[in-house]
Amino acid sequence: MRILVVEDERKVASFIKNGLEEERYIVETASDGKTGLEMAMNNQFDAILLDVMLPGMDGFKVLNELRNAGISTPIMMLTARGTTEDRVQGLDLGADDYLPKPFSFEELAARLRSILRRSSTEKSTKLKCGDLVLDTISHVAYRFGKEIELTTKEYALLEYLIRNKNRILSRSTITQHVWKHNFDPESNIIDVYIKRLRAKIEREDGTKPLIQSIRGVGYRMRDLPQDDESTVDI
Ligand code: CA
Repeated sequence: MRILVVEDERKVASFIKNGLEEERYIVETASDGKTGLEMAMNNQFDAILLDVMLPGMDGFKVLNELRNAGISTPIMMLTARGTTEDRVQGLDLGADDYLPKPFSFEELAARLRSILRRSSTEKSTKLKCGDLVLDTISHVAYRFGKEIELTTKEYALLEYLIRNKNRILSRSTITQHVWKHNFDPESNIIDVYIKRLRAKIEREDGTKPLIQSIRGVGYRMRDLPQDDESTVDI
């Protein structure tokens, strides 16, 4: 999941970035409101952490511009000003949550998981697709009654696919949400990672795969009913 952090205090920004990267998020940062707004307008993020007091354009203004532009990405406001009026203003402008400074990283991470759940069809910390379960806290997958260890990138890719299950995802959409930098659309890096992921999570008994290739487009993770082969005819 790709997160934008808009925060002008360098120490706070790097504290958040380092922590989130350890939690396997892809993190980009902006140190003023205008840059943050531009980045949020021109890229796809899964959530935005937005400081209120920012040089140039403040967080409320950035929030307002984003919501007016129809961008519904979950946004959590961060601020030293924890007054009721501030919270009300942020929430009225369309923020999804409000975290007063100082905060612990654990609380920030838990609240971030919470706003990501609200925007997802999956409401649990355990994501499911058929008989595959992905634990978003321990970052371990379970299938066939056993634990499947995933690398950082495999986890990020699988989490994104499951959160968007039953939707066809183009390679460029997957790239935007799972990789930090866009790369040559001709690159086969996504196919390479899908192959590795399939080797770990798919059954080898001939049943249809959970990750389906869509020719010329990308991939789709399908939520197949367990042990029901009558529906797996594509
Ligand atoms: Ca600030």
